[in-house]
Amino acid sequence: MLGSCGAFPEPGRACSGFAVDWDGYRLVVDLGYATLPRLLAHWPDGALDAVAITHEHPDHCIDLHGLFRMRFYGHPEQPRLPLYCPPGVLDRLAGLEPDVDLTAVFDPHPLPGSYQTGPFELTGMPLPHYVPNAGIRVQAGEIAVAYSGDTGPDPMLAELGREADLFIIEATERDGQTQRPVRNLMTSAEAGRWGREAGARRLMITHFWPGNNRAASIAAASAEFGRNVLAADEGLTVGLGH
Ligand SMILES: [Zn+2]
Repeated sequence: MLGSCGAFPEPGRACSGFAVDWDGYRLVVDLGYATLPRLLAHWPDGALDAVAITHEHPDHCIDLHGLFRMRFYGHPEQPRLPLYCPPGVLDRLAGLEPDVDLTAVFDPHPLPGSYQTGPFELTGMPLPHYVPNAGIRVQAGEIAVAYSGDTGPDPMLAELGREADLFIIEATERDGQTQRPVRNLMTSAEAGRWGREAGARRLMITHFWPGNNRAASIAAASAEFGRNVLAADEGLTVGLGH
């Protein structure tokens, strides 16, 4: 786990992002504020095999720009990197690099959609947010990891995380959210409920609003999930498989 905060990072923490290493195949999902230095602490050469981004909000994609610069200026010899994301992510990046060709570094593939990337079948499913958001599921054989990105409660979540070994759901739990007519973010209790609905083997909650009581969020999610949930934490490593 590279980061656990929603919106902006708390001191010493980072925003959304995690890295998956599957038999040496390196996939990164989301690169929010302050995630890139943490990623490079694990993989100093920045040699990744693929990147997937859920949506264009900067707490999920701003450090993709840092990764672009690192590869463009620092490692031009590295091959183009498959980038799976809603098209808006590329628009944001292009605004930061108006005079440089992004495809020199990235090989973009639009989400939602389904792709084979290395050992993974990678699927992006549309979920409701203020901007287009793709929940992402990666599956290798029997093992699946699923991640909501930012979303309101939606039946698609049960499909996204169906019997996943690890289902990561956002639990922004922001005051007043549940009174909105259209829901674009989740509470911890809802995250627990959708994790149970999906039949996920393990549930992790993330995207904690700065200042939120994380212990209370974990308790609320666990009560709905029916057993203990994991909480995203900078530097946390979770084994996959049985
Ligand atoms: Zn967010």
